[in-house]
Amino acid sequence: MCQFCGVDPEFASFFDKQSNTTTTTTTTTTSPSSGPNYFRMKPDHPRYTKLTTPQLTTFASKLSPSAKVLLASHQGDAFEKASQRWSNQAVKTALAIVQVATPEDVSKTIILATSHDIPFVVKCGGHSPSGASSAENGVVIDLGLMRQVSVKPEEQLVIADGGCLYSDVCKAAADYGLACVGGTTSHVGVGGLALSGGYGYLSGEYGLATDNIVGAQVVTAEGKILMVNDKEHADLFWGLRGAGNRLVAVTKFIFKAHRLSGDQVWGGMLQFSGQQVKAVIEALNVWYNQKDVKAAVELALGTVDDGQPGLTVHPFYNGSVSEAESSFAGLLALPSLKRDVSAMPFWKINTLCDGPLTGVHIEFDSANIKPPLCADHMQRLLTALASVDGWNAGVHILLVQPDGVMKQRATDMAFPWRDDHFDVGVNVAWQQPDVGPKATEWLHSVFQPLANAQGQQDRLYSNHSDFKGPAAMEFGANVGQVQALKTQWDPKDVFKSLL
Ligand SMILES: Cc1cc2nc3c(=O)[nH]c(=O)nc-3n(C[C@H](O)[C@H](O)[C@H](O)COP(=O)(O)OP(=O)(O)OC[C@H]3O[C@@H](n4cnc5c(N)ncnc54)[C@H](O)[C@@H]3O)c2cc1C
Repeated sequence: MCQFCGVDPEFASFFDKQSNTTTTTTTTTTSPSSGPNYFRMKPDHPRYTKLTTPQLTTFASKLSPSAKVLLASHQGDAFEKASQRWSNQAVKTALAIVQVATPEDVSKTIILATSHDIPFVVKCGGHSPSGASSAENGVVIDLGLMRQVSVKPEEQLVIADGGCLYSDVCKAAADYGLACVGGTTSHVGVGGLALSGGYGYLSGEYGLATDNIVGAQVVTAEGKILMVNDKEHADLFWGLRGAGNRLVAVTKFIFKAHRLSGDQVWGGMLQFSGQQVKAVIEALNVWYNQKDVKAAVELALGTVDDGQPGLTVHPFYNGSVSEAESSFAGLLALPSLKRDVSAMPFWKINTLCDGPLTGVHIEFDSANIKPPLCADHMQRLLTALASVDGWNAGVHILLVQPDGVMKQRATDMAFPWRDDHFDVGVNVAWQQPDVGPKATEWLHSVFQPLANAQGQQDRLYSNHSDFKGPAAMEFGANVGQVQALKTQWDPKDVFKSLL
């Protein structure tokens, strides 16, 4: 008897067999339009489920008071809202969305799904463009109610629930004059970002978000709730930092936080036309050669204010305005289409790339560049951007000194890439679903190779390649150890697969 839904899985599998035998002779008795009904639906029907509504309702009653189980048939609006993702492409119709509120809720949901052989996913910020946190006809473990953050200022630690967005962490840390490494966008989920890497403005000084995880509370594939750190379950702690979403659900992160140089940092945005590519890239290379770990740039290639592909530079400086202006003097001396730079709080700088994007299908891929930037390479990318018709494309390059990332060795944790490189994310975005196959084919077979031409070819950043493998390119020399941990901690492959 399943302890949560009150039905014996053996009993349920009897009906699987019944359904298999009866449907061959009585196909007309199965009505696809009659909605999910375990007792009438064939197992190969797209809406077939091994868990019925009464079972899920019973299960809901076993969860903590704040938790909710959302079903399309019963909580239509709330279900639809909870199915939304950053990319429209990632919206799928789940069998049930379980909005968990405690680690025990997560554990119960994993046990329910695995004992009924139902696929499940963990969802934090929902930014996986292709849907790594969505499950068609499966169970979504939605961590969105778990967003508490507490700060231990003396120890410079931030303790964040597994469903936090980066903005939650930034704002809580800021109250104590602290900051955590994260992404350059505030609405990205800490769960996905930090478990697979996490490049941000502070990476030149302090490495990746994953390098700053000092401990975590996790729920395993068996539903066990464990604390992991360099002393407890050290093997899992090693794997968590780079391959966490393949191994466990994280319900709490403990991050090392850092004291910023002052109350405010400096940054903003400068926009340049495509004709200025040579001058901008030269200025950025001069700036980079100063080797200042407190400075960083998010460089975006895409349509700018003149309606053509151009360059948007988001500079960042962890220091005073005068230090920043001196660091970026070459870039600031160039004429720009648009300019808005000033001192501001660190949390605010992480909102400048937030940009509203609704109703768009998006696909990502991963590339890298070995410094310095090459103006001809950037020009080729701009030309490719101008050539597309029917969809939009873009490139994001994070320019940070390698010092922070190289504080760790390649084998210190599952995340392997410890050299002087710029992380590059490439993407396509389209409105009409029928454009999708052509746009994604172009992204992966034309645009990604072009973007990657100045980098190491046989590697991927899985947060940009969207966990699609191959695992050897995501984990490099660490792939064997990651695979061994997968076999040990997730032998039935219930979390995100290693492909
Ligand atoms: C607008 C935008 C900006 C970005 N900016 C940056 C950036 O500046 N730097 C950078 O490095 N990357 C950046 N990325 C990439 C980003 O890091 C990945 O898309 C990341 O996986 C998103 O995490 P999420 O929690 O929002 O996504 P989700 O779709 O919720 O999750 C992604 C994966 O992580 C798993 N997961 C999430 N939370 C947990 C958890 N608590 N426990 C176990 N598994 C979990 C999910 O199951 C899924 O497999 C950006 C992406 C977008 C869309």
